[in-house]
Amino acid sequence: MSKKIRTRFAPSPTGPLHMGGVRTALYCYLFAKKNQGDFILRIEDTDQTRFVPGAEQYIVDTLKWCGIEPNEGFEFGGNYGPYRQSERKAMYRKYAEELIEKGHAYYVFTSDDNWPTVKEELIKQGNPSPKYDNVTRQYLKNSLTLPADEVQKRLEAGEEYAIRYKMPRNEEVRFEDKIRSWVSFNTNQLDDKVLLKSDGMPTYHLANVVDDHLMEITDVVRGEEWLPSTPLHVKLYESFGWEMPSFSHLPLILKPDGKGKLSKRDGDRLGFPVFPLNWTDPETGEQSQGYRERGFLPDAFVNMLALLGWNPGTEQEIFTLEELVEAFSLERVGKSGARFDFEKTKWFNQQYIKSKSNEELALLTKEDFEKHKYEASVEKLAIICDLIKERATFLHEFPSLGYYFFEDVREYDTKNLVKKWDGTKEPFFMDLINSLNSLETFSAEEIETCVKTKMEAAGLGFGQVLPILRISITGTMQGPPVFSVMSLLGKSICSDRLHKGITLAKSL
Ligand code: GLU
Repeated sequence: MSKKIRTRFAPSPTGPLHMGGVRTALYCYLFAKKNQGDFILRIEDTDQTRFVPGAEQYIVDTLKWCGIEPNEGFEFGGNYGPYRQSERKAMYRKYAEELIEKGHAYYVFTSDDNWPTVKEELIKQGNPSPKYDNVTRQYLKNSLTLPADEVQKRLEAGEEYAIRYKMPRNEEVRFEDKIRSWVSFNTNQLDDKVLLKSDGMPTYHLANVVDDHLMEITDVVRGEEWLPSTPLHVKLYESFGWEMPSFSHLPLILKPDGKGKLSKRDGDRLGFPVFPLNWTDPETGEQSQGYRERGFLPDAFVNMLALLGWNPGTEQEIFTLEELVEAFSLERVGKSGARFDFEKTKWFNQQYIKSKSNEELALLTKEDFEKHKYEASVEKLAIICDLIKERATFLHEFPSLGYYFFEDVREYDTKNLVKKWDGTKEPFFMDLINSLNSLETFSAEEIETCVKTKMEAAGLGFGQVLPILRISITGTMQGPPVFSVMSLLGKSICSDRLHKGITLAKSL
């Protein structure tokens, strides 16, 4: 039996999750589900200096909002915990020591670590980014250059140290990436990364590899910014003698003009959110708007993200989460950056709004209506939503699109009213109002039949009557079927509005 697929999303809680991070989580989720596997949330908070309060909860809330909940992980439970690295701190040292024993790592004692001064010296000499690597380490103070008995003495005395990985010289590290195929690095390009810091905290590299191993992660799916770290990770797996997961590095999400990585600044400049939910920076108080608060439905947001880098190989654009799971494969994720398109994102939202049932829309918009003091039962709101949803891009637009169901017409399209009106029509409309007032059910059908019969009898066409009717009832020529609107408004409001419309037309 083949191994159960396990993917993990491993964010560092250093601020609000960017939509690129949500896409990574989504692809991890889709790949796991497609293969009947598990999706895990692990919080990588080993760099305590960058910890931002509220960021962990933000990640959890985002995954819940998007409907891509982990099977296990931080705040979700499971048998491989704890799922927050700061709570696993004690277990990493022994792995770093194991690498020392195996000859793949070495100590650097804090008291005489001469790297900071040597580095400064090298910079002065014109080397802009000197590296602690397989050449320089021979000239620096560490357990490889100090006499063995002195190293032993210092360790016994409990001296403080960091542990660095001993990157071999001139070796080719090759690994297969599911998106990029074979990738290779020469170890001479790499430095001797710190694995365990002098304060006892592991660095990202050690904690990440140890946890992926202990949590039995089979597939690492992450952003392409981690590609340069992967040769070190590959070497770590080799050095430990552990089975390696597969790697997939996702392409960048690009600015709308395709020039460079999408940043928060682009969102601010061009007026779209880059975060899934609202976020207030705990230090500066700066507020950033989220997709949720901007009026996006989670399924539209998720659908848009899914297609930002992955393509199904067909023309299909609208996918439910289940359909995405069914269609998804890492092999169909592109190598090159995916350009973000806010207009397209809005289009997705429109499609999802249109596809919701009227009852769902009523429940989703009830609060927005109430904010405008527009009170109505869910049943009535459902009918209103049905009539206006064609024209909505966002849920919060519903109250303004349908304001005339709750209050008088605010603004009339007088230009068209003048164009369509002439005094000879007044008797027709007066007669029509009377007939409408005597209707029994005032259903849309009944109103339509009444208007048509009257029109025919008077020898008038649709084009001569309907614009005046529409403008009187809703203020504009556009909008939902006017007979349905009238039916919902009821006899007396319609009669009032028609009178008002005619009075206005006459005065123009
Ligand atoms: N903690 C890393 C991040 O913040 C995880 C990278 C990885 O998935 O290995 O994205």
